[in-house]
Amino acid sequence: MIQDIQPRHLDNQYRPVPPDRDSWALYYEDHRVLVKKTPSGITFPKFGELERLNEEIYEDYIYLFSVDDERYYLVRDINREPLSDLTMENTEIFRAADPQYHAFAGITGYQLYNWYKNHKYCGRCGKMMVRDDKERMLRCDSCHNMEFPKICPAVIIGVTDGNRILMSKYAGRTYKKYALLAGFTEIGETVEETVAREVMEEVGLKVKNIRYYKSQPWAFSDTLLMGFYCDLDGSDEITLDREELSLAEWFEREEIPVEPSRDSLTNEMIIKFKLGEV
Ligand SMILES: [Zn+2]
Repeated sequence: MIQDIQPRHLDNQYRPVPPDRDSWALYYEDHRVLVKKTPSGITFPKFGELERLNEEIYEDYIYLFSVDDERYYLVRDINREPLSDLTMENTEIFRAADPQYHAFAGITGYQLYNWYKNHKYCGRCGKMMVRDDKERMLRCDSCHNMEFPKICPAVIIGVTDGNRILMSKYAGRTYKKYALLAGFTEIGETVEETVAREVMEEVGLKVKNIRYYKSQPWAFSDTLLMGFYCDLDGSDEITLDREELSLAEWFEREEIPVEPSRDSLTNEMIIKFKLGEV
């Protein structure tokens, strides 16, 4: 999965030390990110490459995290050489780009970029938020409101019935591949209750024996995904929620039309079932 960058390690402890010339500069504009394409994948600009045209770059930055001894920073308003090999790319590039630790750093930085961008002002009193020195937190000095990074819990659900698994396609999205059922946890429920509720809402089925598989930070949508398998309980007749899904069908293990890909927990859960490992 995208976060599996071993033997490297992403250290997300907030240590706002200043950048140096070798530090990586992550620059985003909405859904796009500044990268350099290389024969072996992608890389990011270093501060040393940007300093000539961006004198203030060593003053205006936000420390993000480190991967081993490589530090990543968020930067704003970059000037770049007209003939530079840096290009703005859609952040979807991180699903498959190499090296994987840069891809994971790039998408994790994107989640933080969105959080900082969306919390400039205090949601309670409207004053400017300021960055705390000691932890990754924004606070309002006027009303003492505190904001922490946004992470939304959600579930991925592998509904199985003996040798069959339920797969679906989303309605009205650009993502057209087969997926598993999924949904966000609502306030006041456990993640197991989310599983049962989402299955009932999306396909009208009852489930039992809900069991946790794995989790995945999914920065594309500010989400922490938690994967569960569960067994069909009773009728297998699907009643589709057409606002959410364009189709949902049962697949025998041997007929699953999905191949392994690197990025997602959904894909890993489908492939595990296909291979008879769950
Ligand atoms: Zn305030």
